[in-house]
Amino acid sequence: MKKQVSVLKFGGTSVGDGERVRRVAQIIARAAESEKTFPVVVVSAQSGVTDQLLRLALLASQGERELCQDELEQVRFRHHEAAARAVLNPLHREPLLRELDEVFGLLTEAVEALLAEPQRHELGAAIAACGERFSVLLVAAAVCEFGVSASPIRTEAIVTEAPEQDPSQPVGVPGAEPLQAETREQVRDLVHPLVTQKTVPIVPGFIGHTPEGLITTLGRNGSDYSATLVGAALECHDVAIYTDVDGVMTADPRLVSNARLLQHLTYVEAARMAWFGAKVLHPRTLMPVVALQIPVRVRNTFRPHLRGTLIGSEGHSRSGAGAITVRRKLALITVERRDLFGAPESAAQVFELAARAGASPVAICASSGHYLAFMVDEQVADSVVEMLQHDHESWCVTVRPKLAACACIGSGFTADPMSPARAITALASERIPVVTQGASDLGIMLIIEERESEKALRCLHRDLIAPVIPIVRHAPREPRRAVL
Ligand code: ADP
Ligand code: ASP
Ligand code: MG
Repeated sequence: MKKQVSVLKFGGTSVGDGERVRRVAQIIARAAESEKTFPVVVVSAQSGVTDQLLRLALLASQGERELCQDELEQVRFRHHEAAARAVLNPLHREPLLRELDEVFGLLTEAVEALLAEPQRHELGAAIAACGERFSVLLVAAAVCEFGVSASPIRTEAIVTEAPEQDPSQPVGVPGAEPLQAETREQVRDLVHPLVTQKTVPIVPGFIGHTPEGLITTLGRNGSDYSATLVGAALECHDVAIYTDVDGVMTADPRLVSNARLLQHLTYVEAARMAWFGAKVLHPRTLMPVVALQIPVRVRNTFRPHLRGTLIGSEGHSRSGAGAITVRRKLALITVERRDLFGAPESAAQVFELAARAGASPVAICASSGHYLAFMVDEQVADSVVEMLQHDHESWCVTVRPKLAACACIGSGFTADPMSPARAITALASERIPVVTQGASDLGIMLIIEERESEKALRCLHRDLIAPVIPIVRHAPREPRRAVL
């Protein structure tokens, strides 16, 4: 029987230092023993490294040569240190250090280029890309130490369009749109020869290039999206997203201490959670795999014996909310026609103008003939307002920043007539006013002041989730292999 591939993605904390890289290598080496599937691995930069590289890019664009030098040295030191702990045999480590220094050379060149021409913001992606380039080298070398053949992919696997750069914004990594057919061809060309030779490919997440060769990225936190793009290109058996929590939880476990593990989620539930702020998955992660019905399992690198959360076409139908998420840094924009009469074309015009200002609505909250209210990311709010006011004198446009959306999500939310009432009552009990709200078949979204968002998350979880969703008790550590 021809083996299919399993895509395994490891996030920044999972490869955060040399010991962790070894732990990841061990998981990969075990997966390579599987009779059923062969692993293809996608990795992120070590946690904090992308932030550091973006700081470096900003300093370079401001002409801060000396500060750049300091940051560069720290980046080099961190990766050499990780190599020393990830790869124990000096005979294996020496070539690794040389390869890390080659990437370091690329990084230094890109920084020099930006120092020389600070307006070239597209170099931000070339600089940020080095984090994943370092990681693939570390992980591949560590896997080889476990006696399994592995090879780092040194080029960017994803082919994308050129991203829209806003020269008025500080240098950064705007997400670029992947080109499906080109990505499929490139991923297959890069991966198939290695898999045929039973060598585990270690692919850099997050980064891509345009057909013309410009380095791009999928935007912050984009490695999850890389993993499913790679998985779809290979028509893989499954994708495992290894991270630092047990799976997708009923709320961010950093903010809600008794958050429960969700063992099953549908694609739409998980996508909605990601859209409304659950950082555990990049919002676009599930797009490439839905049509192919490829299951995605989110699991914990540090507790690999747990089965985590399975995301697929079938969830676990339960009445009421299944999870609470918060998306911050939002602004509410309202547009009202001064003549108080509705014009059917107004909404279309408003959203077209907003798109021209670089914004798509995060959520639409209210609409009547002459009135429209929608949420956008705070950073684009001013340009949207400017665009709307400039184009239409008959519109009265207002903006209210510093808001957050608390989303109560679950396929069974609308089936339980008490759920919306419980949500509003929970907020009222903490004296948290609801600015506005929106609803869909998957739940409701309550817009509140951002400063109250943590309190709101906790009380919604306390009243909607804790009484109905039991805590999953894990058996004591079982050395069971990952199965889907
Ligand atoms: P990685 O580096 O592995 O990509 P991220 O930091 O991007 O990891 O995502 C994992 C983090 O997502 C967790 O540490 C957790 O704090 C956060 N998170 C937010 N919401 C949720 C949720 N509903 N379930 C699980 N984790 C969540
Ligand atoms: N390294 C990138 C970031 O920090 C991508 C990722 O980790 O998913 O945004
Ligand atoms: Mg992430």
